[in-house]
Amino acid sequence: MTEQTHAGWQSRAASLRLPHADGGATYTKRNPATGAALGQISRGGEAEIDRAVAAARAAFDDKRWRGKPMAERQAILLKLVALIEANTERLALAESLDMGKPVAEAAAIDIPGAAAVWRYYAEALDKFCGEAAPANPGNLAVVTREPLGVVGAIVPWNFPFDMAAWKSAPALAAGNSVVLKPSERSPYTALMLAEMAREAGIPEGVFNVVTGFGGEAGKALALHPDVDCLAFTGSTRTGRMLMGYSGESNLKQVWLELGGKSPNLVFADADLDAAAQMAAFGIFFNAGQVCSANSRLLVERSIHAAFVERLVAQAAVYQPGDPLDPASKMGALVDAAHQAHVLGAIAAGKAHARLVCGGAAAEVLPGGAFVQPTIFDHADPASPLVRDEIFGPVLAVVPFDTEDEAIRIANDSEYGLAASVWTRDINRALRVSAALNVGTVSVNTVDALSPQTPFGGTKRSGFGRDLSPHALDKFSSLKTTWIKYA
Ligand code: NAD
Repeated sequence: MTEQTHAGWQSRAASLRLPHADGGATYTKRNPATGAALGQISRGGEAEIDRAVAAARAAFDDKRWRGKPMAERQAILLKLVALIEANTERLALAESLDMGKPVAEAAAIDIPGAAAVWRYYAEALDKFCGEAAPANPGNLAVVTREPLGVVGAIVPWNFPFDMAAWKSAPALAAGNSVVLKPSERSPYTALMLAEMAREAGIPEGVFNVVTGFGGEAGKALALHPDVDCLAFTGSTRTGRMLMGYSGESNLKQVWLELGGKSPNLVFADADLDAAAQMAAFGIFFNAGQVCSANSRLLVERSIHAAFVERLVAQAAVYQPGDPLDPASKMGALVDAAHQAHVLGAIAAGKAHARLVCGGAAAEVLPGGAFVQPTIFDHADPASPLVRDEIFGPVLAVVPFDTEDEAIRIANDSEYGLAASVWTRDINRALRVSAALNVGTVSVNTVDALSPQTPFGGTKRSGFGRDLSPHALDKFSSLKTTWIKYA
């Protein structure tokens, strides 16, 4: 790694060469921290999606990927891991310039996190077993896992490089071809991934990236009759549309990782300093643009006032700063439109809660989309502040009196992605974890996550699981072969 100073990152940013469109329709991509144009990105539509799907289908049919010896596919994917690791700085810088997150965080968390996911599935590739089912004498019933064909992956902008890995790595490990459509708000690292995949030796046509808008390239991919499976991470609103597109077209499988409004339950017996520090991290990390952000804080009333005081002190750590400054713990939001959305939710929230911290745009760099870390106390559990996903650095605090009440408020949400529980009482930790209707519970921490564990939601947070061996299930079908013998 080169010098990790503000000046060092600024100078590397000035000389970074980003991928750009070579002809055809384009749109201008801007840096949300400054509003400056970064370059022209290809605005793909039906024609580009048709071409990519045809290439992916041809690659699947002639088995240029799934027909290779396992060790060869593994070596190629591990070479991709090595390339990602060797390009960590460049990727982190592109991610930061593209969507506003602190570059130091992208270099320490996002890029290594994606490399770990690619490594996990490269190594899993030859450990993914079929089975022999119990069968009557004279019969052998063999169950094998077959790749599906062409997987369309549509991903959001909050962790662009990670979300691309979460979908593409298991889909490729299972032997499929992939067409990846990154968010129009964060296209760069997907384009860089395509370059690295080629360099690693993934055969032509097996991994394809089409940039463009959701309603154009995204819709064309989701409606395409020759796509076998759609793996999606994004908003609940778009998830609904994708299920419709599948029904209208070829009934392709659809897997949805959607929004959240994750509750963080703090009981009076918890380690309050640790809980306050992590509650702030849980909502202000990545400027709250995290599907599993702990955006609802439920605090036992006996410690509520003292806890909110600690929390406000912790929020100060997240004052927005230049994303290229390694001291910044919070960067810009993804763009001015999203900043306006978050500021609108804050303005509306004032009618339903008491603002105790933040509540406005932050002036960091001229033209930048920054918002202060914002905390509302005594929020009305029935208000949009507590019910709707804001996807910004905005926390709603709700006091509770009893464990049952805390569980009731926590589960009173259309979402079910994640939750946190803070208590020193092991019985309570287990009891409350069991009662929460979510995909992941973190006890005495927030947002615990690893490539080894499944991640996904219940209710309108979607279905299907990313990460872990279970993600491979989404990208393969089970084939039963009966063999009669004498
Ligand atoms: P979004 O739904 O607006 O966009 C996600 C992707 O879908 C983008 O690539 C977009 O271009 C595409 N898209 C939009 N409209 C489309 C259409 N009609 N047809 C096909 N594709 C379309 O979401 P976003 O604003 O990019 O991301 C934020 C959302 O993602 C939040 O709701 C967040 O909770 C969710 N998210 C969920 C997880 C998870 O694992 N559950 C992780 C990260 C983000």
